[in-house]
Amino acid sequence: MKPHLRSLVPEQISQIPELKGLPAFRAAQLIAWVFEQGVFQWQEMKNLPLTLRQTLREVYDLCALEVETRLVSKEDGTRKFLFKLRDGQTIESVIIPMGDHPTFCISSQVGCAMACSFCATARGGLVRNLEPEEIIDQILMLRRDLQKDPHPHFGHRQPNVVFMGMGEPLDNWDNVEQSLSIMMDNRGLGMSRRKIQISTSGPAEGLQRLIKSNPGIGLTLSLGGTTDESRKKTMPVPGRTGVQEAVDLAAAYARNIGRKATLAWVLIAHQTDSPEQAKQLAALAHRGAFKVNLIPMNRLDDGKLKPSDLEKILAFQKILTNKGIPAFIRASGGQDIAAACGQLRRRRQV
Ligand code: SAH
Repeated sequence: MKPHLRSLVPEQISQIPELKGLPAFRAAQLIAWVFEQGVFQWQEMKNLPLTLRQTLREVYDLCALEVETRLVSKEDGTRKFLFKLRDGQTIESVIIPMGDHPTFCISSQVGCAMACSFCATARGGLVRNLEPEEIIDQILMLRRDLQKDPHPHFGHRQPNVVFMGMGEPLDNWDNVEQSLSIMMDNRGLGMSRRKIQISTSGPAEGLQRLIKSNPGIGLTLSLGGTTDESRKKTMPVPGRTGVQEAVDLAAAYARNIGRKATLAWVLIAHQTDSPEQAKQLAALAHRGAFKVNLIPMNRLDDGKLKPSDLEKILAFQKILTNKGIPAFIRASGGQDIAAACGQLRRRRQV
C-alpha cells in the first residue's frame, strides 16, 4: 500500500520531495485540493500539471475509503455509511442532523477491544487501529455526501465531529492526534477545536496523554457504572482504570480547557437506571467540571439488554438536575437504519 497524502499535515505536504524545485504556489494548490476541496482522484486536481499529477499518483494514495453501504433514515434524515478500507476491513460513520448543523460521528478503530455489554462494535473485538488518513477521509466523504445531496436544514453550516463511532480513540492516540492536527490546521480542514469532541471509556494512560497534549477539544467520558464493581459488568475492559481515577483525570482536562466535560451514561433497564445510581452519578459529577448525557440504550439484535422505560429515564434525570447537575437525554437517531455504534457492520457480518 502506498502512503496516503492525507496522513500528512499541510506543512509536511509542502515538503514532499515531489514538489522540490517547483514554484511555492504548487504546494499551496496541492494542499487546497487535498484538504479544502478534499478530492479523492488525481484527475480532479485540474490546475496541476499532468506530469506532477502522474508523479504524485505513482508515489501516493488519495483515497482510503469506498462506500460499501449508504442508508438514510426516513425518521430523521440520519445518514449511515459502511466504508470499505484499502485492506478490505469495514468501518462505520454517521451524519446526524442536529438542529441547524450536522454532526459527523466517526470511527477511530476497526472494531473495539472494550467489550462493553451493550455495544454492537464490541462483539467482534478489536481488529486494528485506523490511520490518520482513514479518520480524515471519513470526514471528507461525509462532507462530500452533503455537498452532493444537501440536507434541507444545514445550508453551509460546518459540521461538528465526534469520535463516537467504532473504537476507543485514546487507545489509538498517536493517529487520532495527527488527525486532530490536520482537522484544526487552517490549511487542513480549518475546524475549530470547539466543534470536535472525543468520547472515551477512559483508560488512564490515554487520558494522561490527552491532558499533556491539551488539544482543547471537548471530552466525553463514558461511564456505565459508578463503582469499579458495577462498571465492570457493563464495561469490563475499562475496569483497568478505576472510575474515580478516570473521573479525576477528565475533570483535570476540563479545568485545563475551561469547559465542562461530559459524562455519558447509557440507560439499560434494571442495570443502570436505579435512583441509587443516579445519586452516585450526581456525586461523581458534583464538582462543576461535568454535565451528564443520558443515552437510552439502543437495542442490539440479540435483544438481551433493554433500554429503560421513559418514566425511569425522566426520574433519573430529575435526581441529577435537582442536585444541580446539567443532565440531557440524548435523542437517539436513525433507529430504522441500525445507526447505533457498530450495528450496521455487525449486520453485514452475520
Ligand atoms: N470507546 C469510546 C467511543 C465509542 S462508543 C467510548 O466508550 O466513549 C461512543 C458512545 O456510544 C459511548 O458513550 C457508548 O456508551 C455509546 N454506545 C455504544 N453502544 C450503545 C448502545 N447500544 N446504545 C446506546 N449507546 C451506546
